[in-house]
Order: sequence, then structure tokens, then C-alpha cells
Amino acid sequence: MQEIPFENEKDTVTSKCDGCGANMVFDPETQMLKCPHCGSVKDFEKSNVVEEIDVLKAFSNGETWKDDSSVYRCENCGAVVVLASGQTATRCPYCETSHVVKSEETAGLKPNAVYPFTVSRQNALEFSKKWAKSKLFAPRKFKKNLSEENFRGVYQPSFTFDSQTRSVYHGRIGKRHTRTVGSGKNRRTETYIVWRDISGTYDEFFNDVLINGDTTYSQNTLNKISPFNYSDIKVYGDEYLTGYMAKRSDRTVESCWDDAKSLIDDSIRRGILSRYVYDVVSYLNVSTTHQDVTYKYVLLPVYLLNYRYGKKLYSVHINGNTGKVAGKSPVSPLRVLVAVLLGIALVGLIGFLYYHFGG
Ligand SMILES: [Zn+2]
Ligand SMILES: [Zn+2]
Repeated sequence: MQEIPFENEKDTVTSKCDGCGANMVFDPETQMLKCPHCGSVKDFEKSNVVEEIDVLKAFSNGETWKDDSSVYRCENCGAVVVLASGQTATRCPYCETSHVVKSEETAGLKPNAVYPFTVSRQNALEFSKKWAKSKLFAPRKFKKNLSEENFRGVYQPSFTFDSQTRSVYHGRIGKRHTRTVGSGKNRRTETYIVWRDISGTYDEFFNDVLINGDTTYSQNTLNKISPFNYSDIKVYGDEYLTGYMAKRSDRTVESCWDDAKSLIDDSIRRGILSRYVYDVVSYLNVSTTHQDVTYKYVLLPVYLLNYRYGKKLYSVHINGNTGKVAGKSPVSPLRVLVAVLLGIALVGLIGFLYYHFGG
């Protein structure tokens, strides 16, 4: 039976097992609710018709999460997590301390979509073992201590934006040419640039531009374990949260949209320039209007494993959809030393062989 880092309170509205009355949790393998005690499963209603919300609606008032979901704040690192109603957090999945307290804060904006976990804890362990094996300098203790119980399944908040863009642009680009000048001793090749003014319109529809909804979770890490299975997207339901936690977004839709716009701007510039053959860009002015902008607040499935080595906390992140692993492993000074000594010995050996048999 897998250990989950929180307990269930007695009276709860989460699905109870018909067989033994225990609280059921979401099971990645069957995509159903499963009883952690007797193993019986129960299906629940699912939908993949996820609504795209008009971004202007979010700016005015967003729908808030259910009142009865439990909100916990970590007093050590400040992380705020949301649990299914009736579930209690006992440990912070980000800093591994037990300084988590129930909070009266609201759960914030309600997610409207989710990529359910499809990788089980057991399989996440296998993926991370493979990854750890490739880390030559990781201490043996780290590789050995990777165990299923240490994995916390956390949904990371993210926003995806759609936008129909129309851009008007003008700029100046240049192509390098060479010519031969002079004669006799002074004959040489020189480079010159032929400039060309460009202008036009550029239309592109952007679909699901993914923006991290959590400032404490690195966008870099998110990029490393991306992509998620976009075809698996489901309408959010509290059943998916049972047995897991969700990090509460600490960003507004507006600020995420600003990030999305700058990603889109970069992409449009690349799109425009890909129409031309050029070596240098003198300038490119682009003015873009966005139409039919919609967003989804999507929960992304991530397994977290935190490992304390010396005084430092190392985190391993596993995509709960694909098993892709990212993270830092501790470095064993002994292993590095052995490698350095082996290196020196090898160089010495090559020198010795060359001296005696070479030349
Ligand atoms: Zn049961
Ligand atoms: Zn914490």
C-alpha cells in the first residue's frame, strides 16, 4: 500500500469506499477512484470538453475554488497547497518540513482543467532510478534512498492562453555580399551589406501558450519536464485532487497573460523574419493586436522528491504524464576524488607506455 503524506478526516465528502468505508483516492493507472485499504475501484464522471474562458472575464471576477477544500500554508517556505475537502496535510512537499498549518485563506481561482496523473508512484520511482543511474557523481546513498514513499504528487498551477493575432510590421534587413577590389598587390576581398526595407501583415493563431502559475516553481524546471499530454486534458473535478495536493497559484491571470504576450511577440518576430533571407536585422517594428483571447487554468501533474544531503535540499521533478525527469542530484566528494585520481592514473599510465614503447 502506498503511503500518502496526509491523513483523512472522519467526516468528509470525498468518495467513500462502498466496501470498507475508507476515503478513496485518485489512481493514475485505472484513472478511477481507488480505495487505499481494500483496493476496490469506483469510476466517476469525466469530461474532456474543457471550456476556454474569455480572458476579460478573469480580469473582472474569476470563479473561486470550493469553500470546503482545505488550504494549508507552510510556515517554513510559504507554500500554499490546496487539498480535497476533508484531507489534511502533514508535511510540506516543497521543503519537507512538518510546519504546515491549516489556513483560513481562500483556495483562490478555481482551475478549470487538469492533466490527471497517468504515471503511478511506482513507475515514477523507476523513471527516477534510471535518471539517478546516469548521474556518475551522485552518492550511492542517494541512489539507494530513492523510494516510492518519498514521492509527493503535486499539481502545479499553470495557465494556457489562446489568441488570434494580427500584426503589422516594418523593418530593415541586410544580406552580406563579397566583392573583390583593387588590383595587383592590393587585390583583396571585402564584405558589404545590401539593405532592404520590409513591411507587411502577419497573422497567426496561438494555441495553448503555457505559463507557469507559481512564482516559487522555476519556469526552467517546468520547461525541462514539459510537454504534458495535451490530449489527456480533462475538465477539473475534485476527484482528481484526492490523494494529491495542488499548489495554489500565486499569480494573477493578468500577469500570466503579460508573460504569454511576450512569448507570443518573440514567436511572431521569428515568424516574420522566417519569410526572408537575411544576415542582419537593422530594426523590426511589430504592432500586434490580440483577438478572442481565452485561457485555461490547468493543473499539471508533477511528482516531487526532495533529498537532503549535507545542509542542502535537492529536488527531483518527474512529469506525472510522461515520466520525464529533471533535477539536481547531490555530488559525492569521494566519487569526484576517485574520478580525478583515476584520471591522473590514466594520464600517468599513457605517459609511461609512451616513454617505454612509444616513439
Ligand atoms: Zn475499501
Ligand atoms: Zn515548505
